[in-house]
Amino acid sequence: RASAAVAVDVLDAVRRAIADAEEELGRIDAVAADGDHGRGMVRGTGAALEAASAALAAGAGAGSVLAEAGDAWAAKAGGTSGVLWGTGLRAAGERLGDTAAPTPASGAAAVEAFAEAIRRTGGAEVGDKTMVDALVPFTRALTAGRRWSAAAAEARQAAEDTAALTPKRGRARPLAERSAGTPDAGAVSFALIVETIAAGLE
Ligand code: ADP
Ligand code: MG
Ligand code: MG
Repeated sequence: RASAAVAVDVLDAVRRAIADAEEELGRIDAVAADGDHGRGMVRGTGAALEAASAALAAGAGAGSVLAEAGDAWAAKAGGTSGVLWGTGLRAAGERLGDTAAPTPASGAAAVEAFAEAIRRTGGAEVGDKTMVDALVPFTRALTAGRRWSAAAAEARQAAEDTAALTPKRGRARPLAERSAGTPDAGAVSFALIVETIAAGLE
């Protein structure tokens, strides 16, 4: 099937996985921050799917579908994670483009663009206890030619490992000590999303 339709199907699977995890993500975010991460991700993925479906119906290619999904995510989710996911998806879609059929290499390049956009926009470094802690090892694994499922397993491990870190960014920072022993909400949702995409692609 056409890659744009695959992108929409995978986004739908992501939206469902996030909806199932909404409560858990909110609980994790509430430990040291404001507890809205599940809600924000539900709004963002819902808006992204709606925009992606409209773009597909209008004849857009996979890159444009992802870029439009990103714009809607950033506009509708609210919160830091919404801006970051939206900006990242737009960059990924632009890198992927609409002309050539996606390959593992072009997919990895799109993920690199996603990671660059998020690091540029948010300014977080590895170890700051954010989604970047899961994003960086994930991107490194894909760029090294590993499969999505293997890269997603790296992201899951890295997200769990954030439980040992002290937050240096975002709303968790003022109550940093409270977050000891709890992983970062955005790292956990990132791992869930890339696991879901891996299951949809492989
Ligand atoms: P908000 O913090 O605005 O309520 P969310 O709760 O939806 O937004 O998202 C919080 C998540 O966003 C954090 O768990 C963290 O992973 C991520 N985050 C926060 N600030 C940054 C940043 N500067 N760079 C990268 N990720 C960040
Ligand atoms: Mg929050
Ligand atoms: Mg908030």
